[in-house]
Amino acid sequence: MTASDSNEQASALACLQAKTPFLWINPGHENGDGGDRGSEASNQAQPGAADIRQAEQRLQRFAPLLAQLFPELAASGGVIESELIAVPHLQQALLGEGSAALAGRLWIKGDYALPIAGSIKARGGIHEVLEFAERLATEQGILSLQSDYRQLAEPQARGLFGNYTVAVGSTGNLGLSIGVIASALGFKAVVHMSADAKEWKKDRLRKRGVQVVEHPGDYEKAVEAGRNEAQADPYSYFVDDEHSLSLFLGYAVAASRLQRQLQQKGIVVDAQHPLFVYLPCGVGGAPAGVSFGLKQVFGTHVHCFFAEPVASPCVLLRMLYPDRPGISVYDIGLDNHTDADGLAVPVASELAVAAMRPLLSGVFTVEDDALFRHLYQLQVCEGIKIEPSAAAGFSGPQMLLQSKSGRAYLEQNLLAPLMAQATHLLWTTGGLFVPEPEYAGFVARGKQLMEAKV
Ligand SMILES: *Cc1c(COP(=O)(O)O)cnc(C)c1O
Repeated sequence: MTASDSNEQASALACLQAKTPFLWINPGHENGDGGDRGSEASNQAQPGAADIRQAEQRLQRFAPLLAQLFPELAASGGVIESELIAVPHLQQALLGEGSAALAGRLWIKGDYALPIAGSIKARGGIHEVLEFAERLATEQGILSLQSDYRQLAEPQARGLFGNYTVAVGSTGNLGLSIGVIASALGFKAVVHMSADAKEWKKDRLRKRGVQVVEHPGDYEKAVEAGRNEAQADPYSYFVDDEHSLSLFLGYAVAASRLQRQLQQKGIVVDAQHPLFVYLPCGVGGAPAGVSFGLKQVFGTHVHCFFAEPVASPCVLLRMLYPDRPGISVYDIGLDNHTDADGLAVPVASELAVAAMRPLLSGVFTVEDDALFRHLYQLQVCEGIKIEPSAAAGFSGPQMLLQSKSGRAYLEQNLLAPLMAQATHLLWTTGGLFVPEPEYAGFVARGKQLMEAKV
């Protein structure tokens, strides 16, 4: 490490410890494409484009079954996808009148409304449970790639699945996703919830027959408890949010779908038209999976930034200390207390960090107050309902355009002259099922903060 690297590291650490929101640029960013970097990236094989295609094909095979199990998927033929939404009023509110001439156009990706789970977890979580079900049924000789997968709703397959438990540890949303799909297929489902998990998320699961185990500790503790319990039982399958490749690949499928949506709207992404994507980040799996997929599709033309709460910047911290696997936000004196319950994670996923080290442009941190202001602004400007975690990316464009580190990134990558043609995409990751009274409280808090600011 050079002297200037270690200065950068020290000043980033100071910002983290002071809980000052800032944008950290990844010095390991190669501004290359995802590539199939299997051999190059240590001895642990990295996933590649072929793996993402397999996940896509798996979701396609299951689509008729999903359409049958979930009436809300009938219209899409069993495909779980969200919209790409223009947000001109939000753009004006966040970046100012006439900002398009300077900054390009702002859009949101509407994963807040993903069916079944109501969050981005519908992508990864459902894929992993389907993969497990497919493997079991294939091993038992009741399914082949040519089968009509709707037979998995018949008694023979359900009887098989009923012998198994699918377990997961979660701050809430992953539990919702896994619990709902697992119980719909006939598995027993157990969700280990951390102390941050909201009551309504637990209630929603219990109503579907999912066993909810409450843990007094944080997310990492809930995952560990679930993992240990599942390990002792050969009929238990544990969805491991800290290590799972299947989750990661399920998230990555979002990229080719986004590519089609951009094309349909006539939005060009190329050397003259950069795409900037801002993704809320907890353990890192979801934003890393999506970014990995985006890099495969758009290569150097896409720039991915993660957003973390100032109290829980586990991925930024781990990126900052490449030789400290397992480093936790507690180790630097932070408390991991945030209203962004989906992002309240103390230790990053090693899988996510390894995949992102050469690909990620940067990470920025966000105060809780900003989440509520942005949640409120999105409601007022566009009539869209999200949860606080899902607003974490909203300070991204400003961070990039106005901070010193952001401007340096644009200069160094020769992007500054292209900004009028840029596309900025805020990935809104959850909110559909937030109960109205709870949501009204979020909006009221955001309104109060906005009024206090003026
Ligand atoms: C889980 C979650 C994220 C982040 O995903 P990770 O895989 O934990 O990084 C972001 N937003 C919401 C609403 C989530 O539930």
